[in-house]
Amino acid sequence: MKITIHKGTHEIGGTCIQLSSEKTSILLDAGLPLSADSQPVDLSGLSVDALLVSHPHQDHFGLMATLPPGTPVYIGRLARSLIDAPQVFLGKDRYALDFHDFTAWQPFTIGDFTITPYLVDHSATDAYAFLIEAEGKRLFYSGDLRSHGRKGILFENLVKRPIRDIDLLFLEGTMLHRSNDQFPDETAVENTIFQTIRQQKNISFLLASSQNIDRIVSAYRACKRAGKLLVIDIYTAWVLEQLRQITQNTPAMDWPEIRVFAAYSQDKKLKANPDYFGDFRKRLYLHRVKREELHATPEAFLYFGKMSSFRLMNAFKNAAAPVNVIYSQWLGYLDGTHPDYFGSDQIAAYRSDPAVNFVYTHTSGHAPVEDLQRLATALKPRILVPVHTEHGEDFSKLFANVVTHNDGESWEL
Ligand SMILES: [Zn+2]
Repeated sequence: MKITIHKGTHEIGGTCIQLSSEKTSILLDAGLPLSADSQPVDLSGLSVDALLVSHPHQDHFGLMATLPPGTPVYIGRLARSLIDAPQVFLGKDRYALDFHDFTAWQPFTIGDFTITPYLVDHSATDAYAFLIEAEGKRLFYSGDLRSHGRKGILFENLVKRPIRDIDLLFLEGTMLHRSNDQFPDETAVENTIFQTIRQQKNISFLLASSQNIDRIVSAYRACKRAGKLLVIDIYTAWVLEQLRQITQNTPAMDWPEIRVFAAYSQDKKLKANPDYFGDFRKRLYLHRVKREELHATPEAFLYFGKMSSFRLMNAFKNAAAPVNVIYSQWLGYLDGTHPDYFGSDQIAAYRSDPAVNFVYTHTSGHAPVEDLQRLATALKPRILVPVHTEHGEDFSKLFANVVTHNDGESWEL
């Protein structure tokens, strides 16, 4: 089998790995690089039999539409819905590709390849690792994963009942030189949110990704414990609506502790796409909270927002009690090098604003080194190739059988 890592050997994001047998060629992820210094791979002339997308994060699927038209794309069904949602809310076309879905733990074939998707715990929902078999070889691609989210059991199962006879493991190494100790898991995040909102005298805002379902659950649970109402925007309500495909157990807009704040700009998208949204708009209005209600009793609410919500946050500043701004995503977005994140300057300035109580709480979407070591020890691969990392050279100090490669290099397994 011929292997080429087009991108991902020396950076976090932009992952794209090609596997070719005698007759069949497949791609593992077609990621958009996260770093502005990194050039996207040119996939327009690449003829492959299929692309497998591990999970709905841009740095894994962002280049899928640049493949030659008609290339089959295999992705989880919910993941595909979660990719569609922001397209519609950004006023862009939904992806019209040759999509195929798969079922967790059910093997399927693409030419010479047999692929078994393993559902994993990650900050994206419907995320998978893949076992790939062809020409007598067995490869395991970790995708992005961790053990400390709300589905950590999936990681523990991989460690407890490891897949045997792995010739090659592609292992992500996002956290190689990063610590997750301050907030080791979602429970720690939930507790910080709870402690912040329980005796609040003004409103709290939580800034996190609407696609980080574990974080929405943490916010919801903190609200329930503190007797507060969780306010979500229309986009977040729609994301939660998609989860209904697989579970009734995640919070949704019709739960009694949840309200929807209907901003004009998002409501416009609902009106513009009636076929896509069905009766969602009608149902949404049953659960609406108005701006006047937020101002009447601000201490009753936790608003799940974005950095771009700063104008709304400013409207609640007063001399009597600070607004809580709970920052619950990667701190790097506030370092001044992400002007593309609208509002990041304003949010960064809240850290020294006396009218704001700025609180940070976030746990990573990625496994810390100790967990990666547990996984690698259990899988015992003959070769371990680091990907999705800035520190591939350091893997050999931490793992056995490490072989590093450079982007664009090809080799035979
Ligand atoms: Zn990811």
